[in-house]
Amino acid sequence: MGIPAEDVERVRAATDIVALISEHVPLRRVGRRWQGLCPFHAEKTPSFSVNPELGVYHCFGCKASGDAITFLRETQQLDFVGAVEQLAGRAGIQVSYDSGREQAERGRRKVLAEAMGRAVAWYHERLLSAPDAAAARGYLRRRGYDGELVRRYQLGWAPDEWDALTRALRLPTDVLRDTGLGFVNKRNRVQDAFRARVLFPIFDAQGVPVAFGGRILPGADGPKYKNSPQTPIYDKSRVLYGLNWAKGEIVERDEVVICEGYTDVIGFAQAGVGRAVATCGTALTEQHVTVLRRFARRLVLAFDADAAGQGAAERLYEWERTHEVDVAVAALPAGSDPGDLGRADPDALRAAVAEAKPFLGFRIDRSLARADLRTPEGRARAAEAALEMVREHPSEIVRRQYAGEVAARCDLPVEQLVTAVERRGRTPIRVEAVTRSPSRVGPADLALALAVQEPESVAHLLDEALFDDDLRLAAYRALARAVTFNEALEHADPRAAELLQRLAVEEVDAEPLDVVALLAADAASREIAALEAAAGRLADDPEAFAHAAELIGWLKRRVEELRDPDMCAGSLEQLVAWLADRAEEG
Ligand code: ZN
Repeated sequence: MGIPAEDVERVRAATDIVALISEHVPLRRVGRRWQGLCPFHAEKTPSFSVNPELGVYHCFGCKASGDAITFLRETQQLDFVGAVEQLAGRAGIQVSYDSGREQAERGRRKVLAEAMGRAVAWYHERLLSAPDAAAARGYLRRRGYDGELVRRYQLGWAPDEWDALTRALRLPTDVLRDTGLGFVNKRNRVQDAFRARVLFPIFDAQGVPVAFGGRILPGADGPKYKNSPQTPIYDKSRVLYGLNWAKGEIVERDEVVICEGYTDVIGFAQAGVGRAVATCGTALTEQHVTVLRRFARRLVLAFDADAAGQGAAERLYEWERTHEVDVAVAALPAGSDPGDLGRADPDALRAAVAEAKPFLGFRIDRSLARADLRTPEGRARAAEAALEMVREHPSEIVRRQYAGEVAARCDLPVEQLVTAVERRGRTPIRVEAVTRSPSRVGPADLALALAVQEPESVAHLLDEALFDDDLRLAAYRALARAVTFNEALEHADPRAAELLQRLAVEEVDAEPLDVVALLAADAASREIAALEAAAGRLADDPEAFAHAAELIGWLKRRVEELRDPDMCAGSLEQLVAWLADRAEEG
């Protein structure tokens, strides 16, 4: 454990879970709950529900459930402490730490992030006002980057000096090294990592600066781009440039545009497409997809994934399947890059995204566009090449459709081509089997739901004796013994915890007294049945028989009274007390 329980509880209490989740999926208010499409599985009708009072969510489709901390852990791949820290940051709460080592690591990351923040500000200021940045300013202006844009993206200029940043910020050597901002050279002197480059600060999804991408000015020597190395705060295979700015629109449109460079992201934004992000000098990884999937279901690639070579298609289809995303490709005009198009032809850029095609469709289009379809031989070759691509797709249904399309476009018999792709069965398609079961909510679940959602309304009415089955009894015990809902979840066995989380978002449209009365009537009926069954064996013992008969009569009257609004409360109290005694006697 890193953070003491009291601190965790304070953070939970201060967190607006609806606001938090709304950053990922739009939620709509339904009664006292909020509902939306589940961010954890693909669905068309909402089965994801949030209870803001208890601070928990539950999906009736995929059974995902938890609180704000779980949500952050699942959506942002954070550990428990990381998630609590982030929520604490949002709520302006200072948390403490139990273990010295952990505290040291977290403190270290904070120091590095602060150093990065200072570097971003310093480089940015240099670009805006230093005389030696005139060439960089001119270059940016020519690319259509005005002052507002430069400020928005906090672009910077690293001067053509050995140690300008190091001297200005006076950062300790280890901080320079661990942020990738500087290094110790062969003469044992500290040197800046970036020199004579326009800098694009890279932020994590929360807007914390973690790295730089540095572009050289045209005509200068050296590689076009130089990027920060992997550091304790920067993991290239996870971080996406621009996500901090784009996530709102990504959620809103349920679509993210993925490009390859910083300037592409800016180009898309200039064209009015604010949902673009870029990988930072790496290929798209599965971790990137995992991160993005939490924000959107549709991934539009604004780069030539097909050119990424062998295995790219297979990987994309695999991700579509395992992460339940749709991957499409935007066909950009040949030889153009989004960075330039954003300014030169924003309509073309927007159209490319709007008309993005599924990856397989895109590949087939391109393959057929290059083919010579004028002769029978040419059409056969074109069809074979296209079918080769079709065969790579894991879904037979998809394969058959594309085979039909290829047949039509190559003017060949449909049956023959469809048969050709049928044979190559690969991974079977997964049928979306997650459906919400139309389960009737019985009185025990209703009573538990009330005990979870408005404990004060039922706590004084309920007793263990009212719960017949083990699962509900376990759930009730966990609730009754805990002070907070989270404590109950921690102490409940997994099945009971799952039940409680589901009930936390169940809509209860019933009077607490009616619910408990129903539950008590059920319990009384069970007792009556047991007494009646036993009465037969008491025929030889007139006294015991009379007592049982009397008891049955008494129970039946109480059950009758439960239906009478004036008598219900009093009768319920008597019944529950009797049932509790009975349970105690065993
Ligand atoms: Zn779900």
